[in-house]
Amino acid sequence: MHSTILQYLEETAENFPDKAAFADVEELYTYKKLVDAAKRIGSSIAEKVSRRSPVVIYMDKRAYNIPAFLGAVYAGCFYAPIDSRMPAERINLILNTLQPGLILYDDKTEKNLDSIAVQTEKLHYQTALDSDINETVLNSIRAAAKNTDLLYVLFTSGSTGIPKGVTISHSAVMDFMEWICDAYQLDETAALCNQAPFYFDASVPDLYIPLKTGATVYIPPQNYYTFPKKVLQYIEENKINTLFWVPSALCNTVNCKALEICAPQSVKLIVFCGEVMPCRHLNVWKKYIPNALYVNMYGPTEAVYACTYYNINREFANDEKLPLGRACSNCGIILLDGDQEITENGVTGEICILGQCLSQGYYNAPEKTCAVFTQSPLHTKWIEYIYRTGDLGYWNEKEELVFAGRKDFQIKRLGHRIELGEIEKVMLSMDELEYACCLFQEDGEEIIAVYAGKAAENEVRKTMSSKLPQYMLPQKYIHLDQMPMNLNGKIDRIKLKQNYTEEH
Ligand code: AMP
Repeated sequence: MHSTILQYLEETAENFPDKAAFADVEELYTYKKLVDAAKRIGSSIAEKVSRRSPVVIYMDKRAYNIPAFLGAVYAGCFYAPIDSRMPAERINLILNTLQPGLILYDDKTEKNLDSIAVQTEKLHYQTALDSDINETVLNSIRAAAKNTDLLYVLFTSGSTGIPKGVTISHSAVMDFMEWICDAYQLDETAALCNQAPFYFDASVPDLYIPLKTGATVYIPPQNYYTFPKKVLQYIEENKINTLFWVPSALCNTVNCKALEICAPQSVKLIVFCGEVMPCRHLNVWKKYIPNALYVNMYGPTEAVYACTYYNINREFANDEKLPLGRACSNCGIILLDGDQEITENGVTGEICILGQCLSQGYYNAPEKTCAVFTQSPLHTKWIEYIYRTGDLGYWNEKEELVFAGRKDFQIKRLGHRIELGEIEKVMLSMDELEYACCLFQEDGEEIIAVYAGKAAENEVRKTMSSKLPQYMLPQKYIHLDQMPMNLNGKIDRIKLKQNYTEEH
C-alpha cells in the first residue's frame, strides 16, 4: 500500500520520465519536470509553514497549478484551490474558515491580494519555483507522512451562507484511483481532456489518474467551453480518448450542435458525474460517437468523485432516467428511511455512503460535520461513520440505485452544487431588502430570486455580482410588495413555486 500520492507520482516519473503528464496550450509538464517543479515549490513552502498546514493555491487555471498542488503536498501540507475569478467576499469567508499557513499566487491574482482580509504568508509561484530543492527537508517530511494525512480541502456551497471545506485524505483518493483505473483499464495510453475547475471535485480524476498511470491530461483554456466546437477540435487534434465531464458540459455541446461539426472518434470512454444527465443529450452523443463507453457516476465531494457507477449498455429513451448503478468497490451504499432503518427494494430512502472513500469531515466546522457524518445506525459495536448525502434514492428490480431528488434546497446548476440559502443570505445582507427566497426552475436551469423591500433591482444585482461567483447569480429577479407566508410564519415557498416556476 502506498502511503501518499507522491509515491504514485515518483514511480510513474521513473517509468515515464519524458512522457507528457499535464499540458495546456502554452506549457507542457513531463513527469520528470513535474517532480522537479513540485519539489522546488515544496522546499520553498516548507521553509515558511509547518507540516499539516493548509496551503491556498490562488492562481489562474493552468497546467502549472498541478506542481503547485503537489508542492504543497511535498511540504507535508494539504492544498485548497481558489478560483482566480472568485469575488473577494467569498474568498475571505473561505480563508476565515481555513486560516491558511500560506497563499501561493501568480501574476493574474497578485492584484487581488490587497482585498484579502486574513493575515497570512503570501508567496509568488515563480519565487517558489526558482527555489533550490532541499532533499534533506523533503525526506524528513516524507518519513512522517501517513495515508490518513489530508491531501486537499475543497469548498462547497453551505446552507448557512458559509462555504464548507470538505477534507479528503491521501488514502481516500488512492482508494478511488485503484478502483477506477482497474475498472476501466486506465493506463499510460489514456489521454484526458480536463473540463472541471480544480476547486471542484469533478476534476479529481483528471489530477490523479495520470499520477497513478502515466496518462496525459490536456487542459484547454476555459473559454473553449463557451464554444464547444473548439473543445471538440482540440480533443481531435490531441487524440484524446477519455472524458470526465459534468453533464452540463456535455449538454452544452449538444445544445450548440457542435457534434454535428466535429465528433472525435478517438474518444472511447465518457464518464459524467455531479448531476442528472438527461437521456436526450446522451443519445445525441451516442449517435455521433457510437463506439465510446458512456458511464453515469454518482457521488458528492464528501466521497471522492463517485461512489456508484452505471455503465450504459442498453438504449434509453429520451424521457427515461439513467440509474446511478452499483457501489464502486471502495464504498458502500445504504438507504435509510425516516426511522433509520434500511429500506426495502423499491422504497425511497436517504442515500448514505460508507467506507474508505469518505471525507474526514468539514474543515474547522465540527458541528456541521457531526450533523451529516454519523455513526451507522445499523450497529453500535464499533465506530463506523456514514455520510448522509441528503439525496433520495431507491433500488430498482435489477438492484441498481436510482436517484429520486434532494431532501433539501440544494440544487445543481451548470454542474455546480449550490445551496439556495447561500444566495438568499447574500441578498438579505442588503439593508433595504426585507425578505428573499430563491427558487430553481429545473427546466432551463434558472435561479429565480424573489424579494421584498425597498432595494432597487439594479442595486440587488450589483451586490450579488460583487459577492457571489457567476454560476450562483440568479437569472431572474422578482420584486414583491409583500412576501407570502405560511402558517408557521415562514416564507411560503410552495406558493412562490406555484406562482413563479413552471413546475410545482
Ligand atoms: P458535489 O459535491 O458538487 O459533487 O455534488 C454532489 C451532489 O450532486 C449529490 O449529492 C447529488 O445531489 C448530485 N449528483 C451527483 N452525481 C449525480 C448523478 N449522477 N445524478 C444525479 N445527481 C447527482
